[in-house]
Amino acid sequence: KKADIGLIGLAVMGENLVLNMESKGFTVAVYNRTVPGIEEGVVERFVNGRGKGKNIIGCTEINDFVEHIKTPRKIMMMVRAGNAVDQLMEQLFPLLSPGDIIIDGGNSNYEDSNRRVIETEKRGFRFIGTGVSGGEFGALNGASIMPGGSQPAWNDVKPILQRIAAVAEDGTPCCDWVGPGGSGHFVKMIHNGIEYGDMQLISEAYFLLKHLKKMDNEAIATVFEHWNEGRLHSYLMEISAQVLRHRDKDGDYLIDKILDTAGQKGTGKWSVINAMELGMPLGLIASAVFERSLSSDKNLRVEAAKRLAKDRKIDTTTDLSLVDDIEQALYASKLVSYAQGFAVLQKASDNFSWNLDLASIARMWRAGCIIRSAFLNDISDAYQASEKPKHLLFAPKFAAETAQALKGWKGLVITALQAELPVPALSSALNYYLSLTTANLPANMIQALRDFFGAHTFERIDMPRGEFFHEDWTGKGGNTHSGSYNV
Ligand code: NDP
Repeated sequence: KKADIGLIGLAVMGENLVLNMESKGFTVAVYNRTVPGIEEGVVERFVNGRGKGKNIIGCTEINDFVEHIKTPRKIMMMVRAGNAVDQLMEQLFPLLSPGDIIIDGGNSNYEDSNRRVIETEKRGFRFIGTGVSGGEFGALNGASIMPGGSQPAWNDVKPILQRIAAVAEDGTPCCDWVGPGGSGHFVKMIHNGIEYGDMQLISEAYFLLKHLKKMDNEAIATVFEHWNEGRLHSYLMEISAQVLRHRDKDGDYLIDKILDTAGQKGTGKWSVINAMELGMPLGLIASAVFERSLSSDKNLRVEAAKRLAKDRKIDTTTDLSLVDDIEQALYASKLVSYAQGFAVLQKASDNFSWNLDLASIARMWRAGCIIRSAFLNDISDAYQASEKPKHLLFAPKFAAETAQALKGWKGLVITALQAELPVPALSSALNYYLSLTTANLPANMIQALRDFFGAHTFERIDMPRGEFFHEDWTGKGGNTHSGSYNV
């Protein structure tokens, strides 16, 4: 019997995706490289363990694996991003038949996926680069899947990918075609960047409730559970409450024993780098990435606290509205973060001619993935409105909500800073909102300075846009000016 699909890479994601596919009625061939000299390799362990008695064909040789898959073959790779993917593709190419489809479900860089689509199509095969979000649980029970690449391959893989995807409340699978090239991986990257932002915002809310309100873990968990009933309803909010209530073996709260240094695997950083490449503000996610970097230098912070802030005393507050203000600030900042993220997607779509459907992307994130939340429905509705908003915050619902949140949001950031409690994401979002809504920013000063020292030229408010001027600021300059290009 031949397999409907093959999967390479039996680590946590691969293994669970295979079991998910099999449970939906598909026969799956599996392959993982085997370290020489080891008696029971990864493949044997899986087919004799969790895969036992199931429609799973274990293969320890890659050519045997390829032979066991129905043509046109669908081969999904769930391996470490980077060289491993290229190495595997080189091994696969000589074994494939025209029209076969390679699917990379790892967290690959979208530029690698752009290149791999071209390299694969050149050889007469097809390539799909897909984001898969939802961790171990999502892989097994339904993930959010964001495929892009060789469009003609979509019809062939759709029945399998949509079957293993999570299903939103309205019954739609959280998997749909994203676009050409590496767009699937680009969308997954921004998803992960937003995840960085969401977690930073939650950690700031936790910090403020803990230090300004002097709440204990149980009380904060109760607040988070309450918020999770409302517009902040989301998976991350839900598990934050669970994390706070979780006890260590000795009965103490585990959260209080976890070292405050955050790790990162790169997708947040890539989001920011790519936003910069596109000339787009992604300040909230950037502040989340930078804060993780700062958190990881624990020794420096401990020393700085001792040297520079040893007399710091945090003033607690009994102000009852504070909890509501945090909710307002958290919600408004989250809106800013998603608005920034979706704006980057739109810009990438325009730049790379991907024709991304932002409403569809929001819908794919409603279930299965880590940032799943109620308000992705509202974002999808906003982008589906007859008049698509130029900026997410222009959507009438969001415009009204930010206006309404502003008072509490400002008050909270002021209170936090007054108490010397850092709120990099909440304040970055507020600054963005204020800059966005300021018709006349002080960038005229920057342009004047650039022109003064480097003859970089400027545009004038009393002249048509696109005409550039250079001033001889000191009366001693020449007439030659620098080019007025933007990078
Ligand atoms: P890992 O990222 O730890 O990847 C391990 C797998 O890659 C193993 O099967 C390993 O084989 C294989 N591998 C590594 N190097 C090579 C190579 N040179 N040639 C062939 N195979 C190689 O496992 P995960 O399951 O966590 O993730 C798989 C992919 O999915 C990654 O790209 C990850 O970023 C992405 N992802 C992970 C999520 C998660 O929650 N863990 C969520 C969403 C995406 P071996 O056993 O022989 O070492």
